Parts: sequence; C-alpha cells; structure tokens
Amino acid sequence: MNDRTLVCSDVTMRFGGLVALDAFSLEVRPGEVVGLLGPNGSGKTTFFNVVTGLYKPASGAIRFGDQDLFRKAPSEINHAGIARSFQRCRLMLELSVFDNLLVGAHNRLPNGLFRTLFGRKAALRSIAAFMGAARDLCARFNPHIADRLFEPAGSFNMIDRRRIELCRALLGEPRLLLLDEPSAGMTHDETFRLMDDVTGFQRESPELSIVLIEHEMQVIERVSQRCVVLNFGKKICEGSYRTVVADPQVRKAYLGE
Ligand code: ADP
Repeated sequence: MNDRTLVCSDVTMRFGGLVALDAFSLEVRPGEVVGLLGPNGSGKTTFFNVVTGLYKPASGAIRFGDQDLFRKAPSEINHAGIARSFQRCRLMLELSVFDNLLVGAHNRLPNGLFRTLFGRKAALRSIAAFMGAARDLCARFNPHIADRLFEPAGSFNMIDRRRIELCRALLGEPRLLLLDEPSAGMTHDETFRLMDDVTGFQRESPELSIVLIEHEMQVIERVSQRCVVLNFGKKICEGSYRTVVADPQVRKAYLGE
C-alpha cells in the first residue's frame, strides 16, 4: 500500500447514548480531493476530530500508510503528516502573521519550536529558513500577506485570515489536509477564490490529499473528485458529485424528499 493513503475502517464514536459515527469507513488516496457531505449533525466534524486525535473513538481502525493512528495524540497525528483547518478562524488576532505561522511550524523546525526559539546559532538559521519558507508560501496565496508578515493577523480581511490559516497548516508540509468549511464567514466569491488557491497549490504538490467539508455544493462540485455522504453517522453514499446528488437516499437526507 502507498504510504500516504488514509484508511479508516468501521470507526465508531459515541457521546453517551448518541452514536455520532457509526462504523464509518473511508479511504483517501494520495492526491485525491474528497468532499465530505451530510446534513447538520451527521458526523462530519466528528470525523475530523477523530482522525486528528481530538476525540477518541470507541472502536475501529485508522491507518495512514504504515502508521497506526487509532486513538493517538493530536501531536503524533500531526507529525505523521495530517493537518487541518477549523470552521471558525483560530488565529491569534493580536499576534503577527509570522507568530501565528510559527505555532504551526513545530513539525518543520528540526529541534521543535521551543528549543529553536531559545537555542542559539543553529536555531537562528532554522528560524531564518522558516521565515523564507513562510514568506514564499504566503506570497503564493497573496503577495500582500508576505509583505506584511509582522503585522497583526487581526488587521487582515476574512479571506486573507483564511489564507494565513491555510499557510499555517501547509507549512508543516502535511500529506493530508482536512478542511472544515473553508467558506464559513466568507462570501461566495471569496470562497471560490480561496478554493482556487488551494487547488492551485495542490496541482503543484500532487501527492497532497484533501478532505473537504463544505456546505456550498458548487465548491464541492468544482474541486472534489469523489464525494462521501454521511447521515446520522453512517455513510449513505459514495461516488462522483453527479452520482451523489442524484442518489435518492442523499436527496431524502437533505431535502426530506
Ligand atoms: P456535522 O459536522 O455533520 O454538523 P458533528 O460531527 O458536529 O456534525 O456532530 C455529530 C453529532 O455528534 C451531533 O449530534 C452533535 O451534537 C454530536 N456531538 C459532536 N461533538 C460532540 C461533543 N463533544 N459532545 C457531545 N455530542 C457531540
């Protein structure tokens, strides 16, 4: 098996009597963009929380290539190459863009963030290299961010804040990126621009796989190669966008048809 494939098998997550994920299985291969769909409360964010180690599932298996990630700590999972963005902006708005990026960089700094910050010459070299990488990456998303790396994150508009969050996730050089509703808080146009940024980046890093939770169906249609639909924690359909939107069970879950 390729060492970048995520394989989740029969994952079950309960909150008391509520089964938020019910023997859910999903495979994501390198370079794939998978849209994760389902009505509110169907278990999409729970799935991200389980994969990234924030929630500990009751049963199942989660592997990323040859690594067993089932019930592992978030830091270990991040180290294995999985990064995410959250529905609500998680930047520290009073801190500079650079400081925010540094928080996401512990994977990349050879001695870890704290040793690097409090170390000496070698540390300064790795900070300088990191700054170069941060500037280059931000410039790909918007040169304006790269030019204002030391200004507070709160001084940027919503789409640029989202871009900064993406850069923070990408600077750790993940192999799998989980995007939780990137459109939240943005206009239709901004969402499309942001997703074009993401797909543009992915074209240059074709091994990067993405799982995308998104309510804007046009975004899903435009960027995902495969869709998976959840309802009450169970997978009810999987296939191309066209297949899933035409599926009677999906229509029933969304529209009560
Ligand atoms: P979605 O992302 O599809 O809207 P969620 O994964 O957020 O759905 O939620 C799935 C179900 O799990 C919902 O019924 C939600 O209330 C419940 N749930 C999610 N997180 C928790 C939690 N930390 N404690 C209790 N119930 C939760």
